[in-house]
Amino acid sequence: MQACVNHEETPALAPCTSCQRPFCQACLVELYGFALCRPCREFRAAQPPPLAPTQYGVMDRVVPTRNPQALAAYYCGIFALIPLVGNLLGPAALVLGVVGMRRIAEMPGLPGRAHALTGVILGIITTLLYWGLAALILIGSFAR
Ligand SMILES: [Zn+2]
Ligand SMILES: [Zn+2]
Repeated sequence: MQACVNHEETPALAPCTSCQRPFCQACLVELYGFALCRPCREFRAAQPPPLAPTQYGVMDRVVPTRNPQALAAYYCGIFALIPLVGNLLGPAALVLGVVGMRRIAEMPGLPGRAHALTGVILGIITTLLYWGLAALILIGSFAR
């Protein structure tokens, strides 16, 4: 166990997020969810707050309400697994997923990547499956 940089006799709790030197609990302070030593905190506090991903909490990742298209894509993708409903929801999930992904590309750190991706993948699968099936039935009825 490394000793704190400031207190030789105290074991370090964690390294400073910025300078990576080990510090004890008394020396570490929190800023924007990061554990920092005091000199680094002073330096960071003088800077504008960092953008994403730290401004988003855990719940934003589970249910990314800040990226509604990604969330909608996810649910469309899930419900598209139901036959017939999927004929419409499949393409909707695909479109919404692409929009959600584009929003993440424009705003790096925006939550919902996994949701948007799920929507896109499920959208492609269900669209191909149901419309492919519909086409097969159509071709089959014509061939008769
Ligand atoms: Zn530091
Ligand atoms: Zn210390």
